[in-house]
Amino acid sequence: GLRSSLWLQFKPHQIAAGAAYLAAKYLNMDLASCPNIWMEFQTPPFILEGIMLSNQFQNGIETAKLAWARLPSTEDGEGDEVVGVSGNNDGGRVESLDYEVVENHAYREEQALRGKLYVGYYVGVKWFFALLIGVGTGLAAVFINISVENFAGWKFSLTFSVIQKSYVAGFLLYILINLVLVFSSAFIITNFAPAAAGSGIPEIKGYLNGVDTHGILLFRTLIGKIFGSIGSVGGGLALGKEGPLVHTGACIASLLGQGGSTKYHLNSRWLQFFNSDRDRRDLVTCGCAAGVAAAFRAPVGGVLFALEEVTSWWRSQLMWRVFFTSAIVAVVVRTAMGWCKSGKCGHFGSGGFIIWDISGGQEDYSFEELLPMAVIGVIGGLLGALFNQLTRYITYWRRNYLHKKGNRFKIIEVCLISVITSVISFGLPLFRKCSPCPEADPNFPIECPRPPGMYGNYVNFYCGKDKEYNDLATIFFNTQDDAIRNLFSAKTIHEYSAQSLLTFLVMFYTLAVVTFGTAVPAGQFVPGIMIGSTYGRLVGMFVVSFYKKLNIEEGTYALLGAASFLGGSMRMTVSLCVIMVEITNNLKLLPLIMLVLLISKAVGDAFNEGLYEEQARLRGIPLLESRPKYEMRKMQAKEACGNQKVVYFPRVIKVADVVSSLKSNNHNGFPVIDHTRSGETLVIGLVLRSHLLVLLQSKVDFQHSPLPCDTGGGSLPIRHNFSEFVKPASSKGISIHDIHLGPDDLEMYIDLAPFVNRSPYIVPEDMSLTKGLYVPSEEMIPFAQVYNLFRQLGLRHIFVVPRASRVIGMITRKDLLIEETEDPATVELQSTSV
Ligand code: ATP
Ligand code: MG
Repeated sequence: GLRSSLWLQFKPHQIAAGAAYLAAKYLNMDLASCPNIWMEFQTPPFILEGIMLSNQFQNGIETAKLAWARLPSTEDGEGDEVVGVSGNNDGGRVESLDYEVVENHAYREEQALRGKLYVGYYVGVKWFFALLIGVGTGLAAVFINISVENFAGWKFSLTFSVIQKSYVAGFLLYILINLVLVFSSAFIITNFAPAAAGSGIPEIKGYLNGVDTHGILLFRTLIGKIFGSIGSVGGGLALGKEGPLVHTGACIASLLGQGGSTKYHLNSRWLQFFNSDRDRRDLVTCGCAAGVAAAFRAPVGGVLFALEEVTSWWRSQLMWRVFFTSAIVAVVVRTAMGWCKSGKCGHFGSGGFIIWDISGGQEDYSFEELLPMAVIGVIGGLLGALFNQLTRYITYWRRNYLHKKGNRFKIIEVCLISVITSVISFGLPLFRKCSPCPEADPNFPIECPRPPGMYGNYVNFYCGKDKEYNDLATIFFNTQDDAIRNLFSAKTIHEYSAQSLLTFLVMFYTLAVVTFGTAVPAGQFVPGIMIGSTYGRLVGMFVVSFYKKLNIEEGTYALLGAASFLGGSMRMTVSLCVIMVEITNNLKLLPLIMLVLLISKAVGDAFNEGLYEEQARLRGIPLLESRPKYEMRKMQAKEACGNQKVVYFPRVIKVADVVSSLKSNNHNGFPVIDHTRSGETLVIGLVLRSHLLVLLQSKVDFQHSPLPCDTGGGSLPIRHNFSEFVKPASSKGISIHDIHLGPDDLEMYIDLAPFVNRSPYIVPEDMSLTKGLYVPSEEMIPFAQVYNLFRQLGLRHIFVVPRASRVIGMITRKDLLIEETEDPATVELQSTSV
């Protein structure tokens, strides 16, 4: 069956791991619920030690499968003994971020040293960083756009001039140029920046949800993303550069936040100001919004995208800063485009940047049109859900079969797809008859035909005669930005034949599905818009011939189709709606876009999850989504933490014990307990693994006696700066195996009290996991929700404790409102009203 284990990476010590497996079975451990079993059991004359992860299935998809075994040197031992069981459900690949500020002694000390001025300075620097992120992302977007437009423009004009002489030579040239561009992209990604493949939005979404995927915010990822997307988009694959720009913005933000790249010596001490995960999270949010703002020149859309799609929590101060960043991006992009207008940027002209002004479009709509528009919404929902489902299967297959075989296969795959794409986009228009150019309308001068790769419709492909154009080439043999503009274009009735649109829809949809998930940076916005506007225009054509009297534009329907497909696949509403309005400069269509998006999202949601959630799950990113799973409704906090024994530390502990405990599990947070004089145990706080490692490495806090040092008056000698406890972004930090302690050190003691977070979050054991439905026959579950607490506060650990025995106070809203001026009148008023 599905659950039978398959062993991988499993050569030298099969016996040991096999024995571990058998022992686990023998001990009746439920391997499915306890996926990672670490055990060390002794059978003379060997000590066998093995780690095994059983296959873990989430919705039928394997997320972890690993096995490891070791045969240490022979020692005397007796009996079977399971020493440790630890459940790390992700194989250690992703770890959570510490958004919670650890309020330990060093932190409080540092805060106390800072004056009021510091707060102002801190806020000022944050705004300054928001400015820098905007400028950086804007410039990156301009750079990518100029490069893509130039490569593509050069490619098309060269091909076009060659096909005047020989089709075969032009065809081969076209394939070759695309292949070179795509190969360079895939080469960069596989050899230099593997984390830059794909759109990056699921990973960034995970980051802002509280999980760090290794390598997503590194400098090399940034570089790989920028140059990789130039290659993949310039090479004409069915993907876009907008998703990668979001990732680019986030990388720029994170790198600024940590003061540059340490690995490449591009850092400056002066910039190293923000060092907590929490500050970095704010910056990354700004970077995300900046990415969308730059990609679509949609500043408000960027803010809403960050709010709706990527972040899991939000606060109003952040909104202003994100808004500011987006505004800066808009200014930078506009300035750069103004500068390029005079032809200084080669092929990059007014048509280059992604913006599809259809301001000449439909002014009004009539009641009869609402039905076809609703139909577009339904089609969008269906095709979008199908897209998600197909890409999910393909991604799963790729991950498990193709991409396992090595980088060579990844590159070959992308190159193959590139050749197929080139053949289709060059070959299919050849089979279309050329159509005569429309009669010139003095109000809307058109140039027909035009060479491909230039701004405008009516591409002349192989049409020999002067006044003819090829409609399929107009959308297929063109850059995607131009193709979309052509699909959206108003004032041209029946510019495309239904046959051409249908051919393009089927072909491009298939290509987009196949290209998704290959080892190149790839966004889904532009392919989505292409697909959607094609069927939208098809519907529009029927509407035009059906309601002859009304003033209907096919371009309007194309726009609605684009919105519906994006809504059906990405499941965003508000942000997509604003983005669509911002890119088309047509506010009048707002109500229609809203209608279509609501329908397509509802239809899509009936089938599966949004694209980014699906992809995040496939990549093993444990996202806490806004809507918890239904099964959680009946669970309590106690059940969620399983029945493992809690690994905790006493307040004063021997160094050797810390080391052995840290080696025996891979938890990252541990409760610290103390005993009162009367002998009761008392939880004094939470200590993080990373902090313990800092203590073990520096050794300055080791003491000879097992007695606690005095923390009562806070007069503790501070031997650590708070900054020493700070872990660099997107790095694993040090590991316990890197720390070497002598036998003398191991005999020393360490008092953990000054280093614990004294105010961890604590919930009673019977708190419900999520908002439950009240079921009368069952016991009433308290209406509090661990899930929401966890997600909204961005927590990493929560302690579960028995019901508290005493209440020493009560806080209400009034206690949190501290009056600025103690006006006797109001005080009196309050006391009387109470
Ligand atoms: P994260 O992986 O989110 O960064 P973490 O590494 O501290 O946090 P894991 O050790 O990966 O947490 O958690 C895996 C399982 O181990 C969870 O089910 C959790 O309940 C349990 N767990 C975590 N910390 C402890 C602990 N100190 N003692 C016992 N069980 C723990
Ligand atoms: Mg962990």
